[in-house]
Amino acid sequence: MAATLLPTLSPAVSRAAAAFLLLRRGPAKSLPSTLRHFVASVSSSSPATPSPAIRPPSTVASSSTVARATHARRDLLMLGIETSCDDTAAAVVRGDGEILSQVVSSQADLLARYGGVAPKMAEEAHALVIDQVVQKALDDAKLSGSDLSAVAVTVGPGLSLCLRVGVHKARQVAKSFGLPIVGVHHMEAHALVSRLVNKDLDFPFLALLISGGHNLLVLAHSLGQYVQLGTTIDDAIGEAYDKTARWLGLDMRKGGGPALEELALDGDPDAVKFRVPMRQHKDCNFSYAGLKTQVRLAIESKNLSTDDIPISSASEEDRQSRANIAASFQRVAVLHLEERCQRAVEWALKIEPSIKYFVVSGGVASNKYVRTRLNQVAENNRLQLVSPPPSLCTDNVLHRRHDCLDWD
Ligand code: ADP
Ligand code: MG
Repeated sequence: MAATLLPTLSPAVSRAAAAFLLLRRGPAKSLPSTLRHFVASVSSSSPATPSPAIRPPSTVASSSTVARATHARRDLLMLGIETSCDDTAAAVVRGDGEILSQVVSSQADLLARYGGVAPKMAEEAHALVIDQVVQKALDDAKLSGSDLSAVAVTVGPGLSLCLRVGVHKARQVAKSFGLPIVGVHHMEAHALVSRLVNKDLDFPFLALLISGGHNLLVLAHSLGQYVQLGTTIDDAIGEAYDKTARWLGLDMRKGGGPALEELALDGDPDAVKFRVPMRQHKDCNFSYAGLKTQVRLAIESKNLSTDDIPISSASEEDRQSRANIAASFQRVAVLHLEERCQRAVEWALKIEPSIKYFVVSGGVASNKYVRTRLNQVAENNRLQLVSPPPSLCTDNVLHRRHDCLDWD
C-alpha cells in the first residue's frame, strides 16, 4: 500500500503542546479518568498506579525529574503521537512551544477509495507506518529517544482500534527510554493548540471545535476545567462537508471540505433554499443530518448524475448547478454555526464576563468562509477571534506536500 508522508503541523503537535500544559498542572477532576491518571503519574510524588485502560510504562521518570525539566521549559522535549482516526502523526515540540518536527502519514488514498474511514483498515494502515512516522519525527528534530522528556499520545475520543496503535507505540518508546506518558484528550488538544500560536490567549475563553467527528462549544475556565455549552445531536459539520462533496462528485483526494470550499466560490449561495437547522431549539446544540438530507434531495431533484460523472467531466451547466448547491449548502451550514455561536457567546459572557477570546479550531476551521463569518460574530461581541493557521487545525493539508515517500 502506498502511504504519503506529509510534513505538516499535525494534530500530534496539538497533542504534544497540550501535554506540556498538562504537565504544568496538577490532576484535574474534570479530565477523563485515563487522562487524569497520566497527569497524576507525572505530577505527583506517589508511585503511578496502573490504569485498567492504559497502563503506564514499567519505567516512569521520577516526578522530580519532570519537575526540574518543567522549570527549564526550553529543555523539555515532548514527542506527540496521534492515531485517533485517519492519519498517523508524530511531532516533537520543545517546552517553549517551538515545533522541531512534524510528520503525517495520510490515509487520504483509502478515504478517497472507500468514501469513509473503515476502522479495521485504518488500524492496519496506522500499524504499517507508525514506526517510520515516529522515527522520522525524531530524525527531523535531530534527536533520539533518550533526549526526550516525555511522550504524549491521544487517548480519546477516537476509533479505539486506531487509538490503540498510537498508545502501544507510546508505551514502547516510553519503556525503552524510561519516560512518562501523558495521555491527551483529542478535543482538549484542539482547543489548547491555539495557545501555541497566540501567546496572549488566556483563560477563560470560549472555544468552538469543528471537525469531521465533533461539533463542540466549550467554555474553558482554566486548564482541565471546561463547561460544554453545546454539541451535535447527530453529525458534525465536517461530516456534512465530506458527504456533500462526495455526492457532488468532487475529487476527495484533496479532502471533501477543501474541495467543496473551492467549488462554492463559483456558486450562488442563494440558489437553493436550504432550511437552517434547529431554529426552534433555543440552545447551543447543532444538527447536520437534516441538512445532509436536504442536499441529497436537491441533487436528486436537479437530476444531476453525480454518481457517474465526476465534476471534472461535467458540462458547464451541470458544473454550475453543483457549484450552486455547494455554495448554498456552505451558507446554511455556516449560518447554523453563527447562530449557535452567538447564543453561546451570550451564555458564556453571563457565566464569565471577563472573556476576551473566541477560539475556533478543528479541521473545518481552516475554511476561509467559516473564519470570516465567525470573525464577524466575534467582532459583534467585542471578542477577538483566535484560530490556529489551517496547518494547525487539520491534517488535511495535501497542498503543502513536499516530501513524499512510498512505503511499497
Ligand atoms: P477529524 O479527523 O477528527 O475529523 P480533523 O481536525 O482532521 O478532524 O478535520 C477533518 C475534517 O475537516 C474533515 O471533515 C474535512 O473535510 C474538514 N475540513 C478540512 N478542511 C476544510 C475546509 N477547508 N472546509 C471545510 N471543511 C474542511
Ligand atoms: Mg483527521
